[in-house]
Amino acid sequence: MTESIKANSALLVVDVQNDFCPGGALAVEEGDQVVPRLNPWVERFAKAGRPIAYTRDWHPREHCSFREQGGPWPVHCVQKTSGADLHPDLKVKGPLFDKAFKADEEAYSGFGGFLVDANGRISNLSLADWLRGHGVKHVYIGGLTTDYCVRTTTLDALKEGFEATVLGDAIRAVNVHPDDGRRAVEEMKRAGAEFMGVSLSV
Ligand SMILES: [Zn+2]
Repeated sequence: MTESIKANSALLVVDVQNDFCPGGALAVEEGDQVVPRLNPWVERFAKAGRPIAYTRDWHPREHCSFREQGGPWPVHCVQKTSGADLHPDLKVKGPLFDKAFKADEEAYSGFGGFLVDANGRISNLSLADWLRGHGVKHVYIGGLTTDYCVRTTTLDALKEGFEATVLGDAIRAVNVHPDDGRRAVEEMKRAGAEFMGVSLSV
């Protein structure tokens, strides 16, 4: 990893939760493989004193995205269950931002997330406002999943006026349709996101 991180940047780690990893309720193939690719970036941003934010899908048990409520997904990332926990091997060096925590609201994008405060309560500070408060202009994005939450987080970052670099080796797709991940990458690129690989030898 020889390229230096850009000035005024932050790292966004999207939904690296047990339910999206092998063995989880909405497992993504190789979902856990993003963890060893993200950890060197976490170390790097921490060392540089740059902000790192972690988003979580954080659903109530009757969430509208679940099939039993007419939604498209199996029950996943239910609040305060182990499935909603971040992957145990992920290095956590920044605050959590929870999203889709109301039964009738879906939020794929991390920009639908709000800061979890020191008491573990969801505050009213949005991810975008938190980033701006830290003087962030450029976000690096990795995590799960390429075709849903990484895609929408990246598109929203650009819409919010941030520059975005997607860590291309540190994302994985659900691929409900076989090409969804590839199409999502194309969509993010068209919208203006840069892509960058990650060396594992760091
Ligand atoms: Zn969800």
